[in-house]
Amino acid sequence: MKCEAVKPLVAGYLDNELSESQAAPVRQHLLDCAGCRNEMQSQTAQKSWFVPTEPIAVPDGFATRVSRRAFAGDKGLLVPAPRQEVQRGEARILQFVIQMTAVAAVVLLILALGMKFNAHPEGSELRADSSDLREALEVMERLNREEQFQLPQDNPPGASQPEATQPVGSGVGK
Ligand SMILES: [Zn+2]
Repeated sequence: MKCEAVKPLVAGYLDNELSESQAAPVRQHLLDCAGCRNEMQSQTAQKSWFVPTEPIAVPDGFATRVSRRAFAGDKGLLVPAPRQEVQRGEARILQFVIQMTAVAAVVLLILALGMKFNAHPEGSELRADSSDLREALEVMERLNREEQFQLPQDNPPGASQPEATQPVGSGVGK
């Protein structure tokens, strides 16, 4: 028996749905072929996810009633559940979410304020920090101003180009 012929039969073999004459060659192939044996084991593992249930007793005349209703045009659709109750439940969940969001926002605000006051507990420290900051800003401003004075010299192409190229030109040209 070939693998292609065995594989479709493995599920039936595991469920004991094959006749003995069908099952015997499958069993023999599974003993010989590691690939199909792996296939069978993976299917066995899948089967273990499904818990077998007790067979359910069908009431007397069930099939007759189903077929009669089907021929009468019953499509077997469930009667839609009362809409209002669902909406009321959704509204309640939404209300809860909004309330929790508001509570979380208040908590965050309190935490943020608490952290702000903890970060600068004393006025003297705050002043020292700000004077350092001002000094740093002044230094940066001065540096910026110096750069700005230098920049215009580079910017006009006609005036500054000879000056800039002179050292390079004098070295290479001669
Ligand atoms: Zn095989």
